[in-house]
Amino acid sequence: MADENALESKPAQSIPERPKDAPAAEAGAAPAAEGEKGPSKSALKKAAKEKEKAEKAAKRKAAEEAQKKQQDANDVSANDYGELPMIGSQEYKPSGVSRVTLAQIAEKYNETTPIDEAGGAEVCFRAVVENARNQSAKLSFLVFREALNTIQAVVAASDSLSRQMVKFAGSVPSESIVLVHGLVKKTPEPVKSATISHLEIHVKKLYVVAKADSQLPMQVSDAERPLPLEGEEAKEDESGRPIVTLNTRLNNRVIDLRGKHNRAIFAIKDGVTALFQEFLRNQGFIGIQTPKLLGAPSEGGANVFEVGYFATKAFLAQSPQLYKQMLIAARFERVMEVGPVFRAENSNTARHLTEFTGLDLEMAFEENYHEVVEVLENLMLYIFNGLKTKYKRETDLVRSIYHVEEFKLPEAGKVPRIPFSEGIQMLRDDGLEIGDFDDLSTPDEKRLGALVLKKYGSDFYVLDQFPLNIRPFYTMPSHTAPAHQAGAKDPNSGYSNSYDFFMRGQEILSGAQRIHDAEFLCKRMREHVSPVDPNSDGLRDYVNAFRYGCPPHAGGGIGLERIVMLWLGLPNVRLASLFPRDPNRVMP
Ligand code: ATP
Repeated sequence: MADENALESKPAQSIPERPKDAPAAEAGAAPAAEGEKGPSKSALKKAAKEKEKAEKAAKRKAAEEAQKKQQDANDVSANDYGELPMIGSQEYKPSGVSRVTLAQIAEKYNETTPIDEAGGAEVCFRAVVENARNQSAKLSFLVFREALNTIQAVVAASDSLSRQMVKFAGSVPSESIVLVHGLVKKTPEPVKSATISHLEIHVKKLYVVAKADSQLPMQVSDAERPLPLEGEEAKEDESGRPIVTLNTRLNNRVIDLRGKHNRAIFAIKDGVTALFQEFLRNQGFIGIQTPKLLGAPSEGGANVFEVGYFATKAFLAQSPQLYKQMLIAARFERVMEVGPVFRAENSNTARHLTEFTGLDLEMAFEENYHEVVEVLENLMLYIFNGLKTKYKRETDLVRSIYHVEEFKLPEAGKVPRIPFSEGIQMLRDDGLEIGDFDDLSTPDEKRLGALVLKKYGSDFYVLDQFPLNIRPFYTMPSHTAPAHQAGAKDPNSGYSNSYDFFMRGQEILSGAQRIHDAEFLCKRMREHVSPVDPNSDGLRDYVNAFRYGCPPHAGGGIGLERIVMLWLGLPNVRLASLFPRDPNRVMP
């Protein structure tokens, strides 16, 4: 055992003894001079009384200390509990004791295998105290947590386990980290409050490795309760307990993140990233890292953060768009990136952040941009199916508090791919007044999502061929668009080879075929609804990249936090960001 023999201090030992010759109390000291006559009779009487009182108190204290000392001397568990010295503060002596995880305990002693050892199997593990309570002078209960697992523990007084140890165990503050030696036993009844309900630990030794403050700014259990859904203003949950607001939770994010649901959310987020990279790497994509500090705002000046850069200024990248295309021009053929995206949008909504994680990709295609759309559809299906199989436990855990419908997936190869014009027609048939080339508002998108779900039975679909005038300058116009005709009256009218992907009626991906011809690109930059100068500092190198023979290409940008939010049915995208940034928050 690491430093168990070097227990720093037991609570009992930590009370300093009073030196034998010290004055019992300050009250016994001579009173201050009260004038030439000296103290009055009544003052002397009062002082004598106080001295007597203080002497009695000191005697009582000494008797208590002696009794405690006696008890400590008789504490059979004296070396089996207490606070360990801070790791790193003493010479390292390997304990030689192998430790297990709660997950390993649950797996080894599952519901069907009997525990061979009579009286239980010996284990040693480190865990967090979820809660501890003294049931009586002879019995304490604790719940230990590690990752998503919890297990109940019993500390019972016996000939070999002292009452002092029982008391100590029941008073360990929640969230402290402890080292436990104990026996694993099967429980007569399932323990409802623990995830490992068929087992419990009978504690033999308990050491505090890192003690938590006894007063926490919020409880971990607060993080495991639902927030009100968008538009709802609940102040209490179903049991009448006040809901800790999102603001408080985010202000105390380290404690908040300890909640099991948060743990599951971020395991899923990591899973989406891994599945994204796994799928694309298998398809020949190379991971890239494009710069986030730019010398000029690249995609138009709006929504860009300006930062000081030595004697001049720089701008935070709003997407890797221009760089991933330049890498296609550099003959990389297929690229992907997972990286931060900065948007100086003052959007205080439940789905916008000022810094989010972009899952971006770009690829050259042979004949038609739908080759890329197909890769993107298959990528998303791979991610969804991977989440369903590999992250079922985490998904079910989060969805158990945010009660959302199962995410309905289409069959492979049957992702609804709906032309924008058809989407508009579906909305009109549903009673919405909307122009052919109008952009869809968020409520329109959600309404279309519901119509698609009804018609195609899928929560995931693609809207293809968006109006050209609502897409960025680098978007390839459809072959029917006037932009391809010389001297067209309205070169921004018509459709474009662009698409958005949706989950539960909300956008998760935006993409398009990009213009790969430098001259046509310059023309589109100048005639775009928000024109940009192809010779400007931020765009010159980008445009030049297409002068040396660039293959036709298309790609897309996906919001990682949006996928997590919509997969799980979270009411706010901030819940899918570890330390979210929005117009009102850049801390912690
Ligand atoms: P929206 O219309 O939802 O504001 P957008 O059209 O500005 O999004 P793009 O610039 O095309 O989005 O970005 C690609 C993807 O990045 C979006 O589909 C979305 O998943 C995600 N995304 C965009 N803006 C944000 C944001 N502010 N916070 C979180 N995710 C975002």
